[in-house]
Amino acid sequence: MLVAIVGRPNVGKSTLFNRLTESQLAIVHDEPGVTRDRVYGEIIWNGRTIPVVDTGGYVPHSSERFEAAIREQVDIAMADADVILYVGDVTTGVTDIDQEMADKLRKSQKPVLTVANKADNDERRWAASEFYEMGLGEVFPVSATNGIGTGDLLDALVEALPEEDGEEPDDRTSIAIIGKPNVGKSSIVNAVLGYDRSIVTEEAGTTRDAVHSLVNYEGREITLVDTAGLRKRAKVKENIEFYSALRTERSVREGDVCVLMIDATDGLQNQDINVLKLAEKHKKGMVIAVNKWDLVEKDSKTAKRYEDYFHEILQTLDYVPIVFTSALTRQRVYKVIDTALEVADERAKRIQTSRLNDVLREAVANHHPPTYRGGNYVEIKYVTQVRENPPVFVFFTNHPKGVKESYQRYLERQLREAFGFKGVPLTLVFKQK
Ligand code: GDP
Ligand code: GDP
Repeated sequence: MLVAIVGRPNVGKSTLFNRLTESQLAIVHDEPGVTRDRVYGEIIWNGRTIPVVDTGGYVPHSSERFEAAIREQVDIAMADADVILYVGDVTTGVTDIDQEMADKLRKSQKPVLTVANKADNDERRWAASEFYEMGLGEVFPVSATNGIGTGDLLDALVEALPEEDGEEPDDRTSIAIIGKPNVGKSSIVNAVLGYDRSIVTEEAGTTRDAVHSLVNYEGREITLVDTAGLRKRAKVKENIEFYSALRTERSVREGDVCVLMIDATDGLQNQDINVLKLAEKHKKGMVIAVNKWDLVEKDSKTAKRYEDYFHEILQTLDYVPIVFTSALTRQRVYKVIDTALEVADERAKRIQTSRLNDVLREAVANHHPPTYRGGNYVEIKYVTQVRENPPVFVFFTNHPKGVKESYQRYLERQLREAFGFKGVPLTLVFKQK
């Protein structure tokens, strides 16, 4: 499920995005050429959490190129979003480009909500009716700067959404292969599939299904979700980045496990770490595949050195397993899938309460929780796993707020040492008892 905000520059898309998402945390993009930090966010309304992307950050400054860029963004948004928020500006009214984009949107099967923005007062709200000309159905006069009209808009948005995505409805394990362009994603997927799929991708690249491969892997049904091959769809440079941002967000949400693929000769970059953080935020399993391993000059200790170095950069994500691969020589390409499946199994496992409490007792005996607010003893009496896929543990304590982050990390480490959970983010909840 995904909502995209589209429209001409300066109509107030980013202001609307900020208003609707209210400072929800978004990924920070550090690629050059991307002028805006915040692209994804979440709208929380009526108990639904709705992922939203703002296309506005990627429009080139040069005026000849911006029209081509936004035209293409509408195409991309139509292909990938479930609902489109089309934003116009009541102070300029309906322009030629608005009309042109509306023509495209009308032809798509996707629900579109027309936002007549900058409707700050009554007079401007009246002016909003001009947007009915675009023929996209109901028009919502909104003021992104002062919030007027956003409630009605959000009600209509929730109404227009498809049914809530559940966890995988079937037993299929879904593995998303994610990474920067050229790291070897298609090569590895092709190697796994055993045939060259790139031709298929080129031809059918405009449909979402083209990037989902259903595979029977050693008797197990898996879906490979890959972000490769798609950059061909965007011709404008800025849109390639927009597109891959949108695609990454979507793939991370769809997968049970995310395989972050990097090029061994590039190392692990901020952008890669942001993908892992996104996966962690969504409580997905994670694997790092260090591809093009054939290009690295190595001795018997090289892999270990890489691994130590990565773990140092990754800090609290150091539980993510690392596989060194070469799609070219096919070295360990199956190991990537095997590891992803192991992580999926770890994510689905449930630990007996008695075993958990044995570990808790020993952990507390070895290191007492620090006292809370001037000498209050913090006791943690009991732990139980309340769900799996992803796993959540509830600890009962006399002072939930007194269990500091550092101690939570300590407990997490003890759980990992005892039970593994390789590549799986753990959620620890502390409740009053
Ligand atoms: P974008 O290029 O479409 O993302 O537009 P921005 O969000 O950057 O907004 C462009 C300009 O319009 C900024 O100066 C905003 O402050 C202004 N703006 C955005 N929303 C409103 C609104 O609801 N009312 C008024 N009066 N100005 C707005
Ligand atoms: P994608 O954009 O991530 O899907 O990357 P591709 O699979 O298209 O690969 C990009 C380029 O890297 C192509 O020229 C591949 O032949 C090359 N490549 C992919 N995997 C490897 C590898 O393991 N070793 C080497 N040397 N080259 C590779």
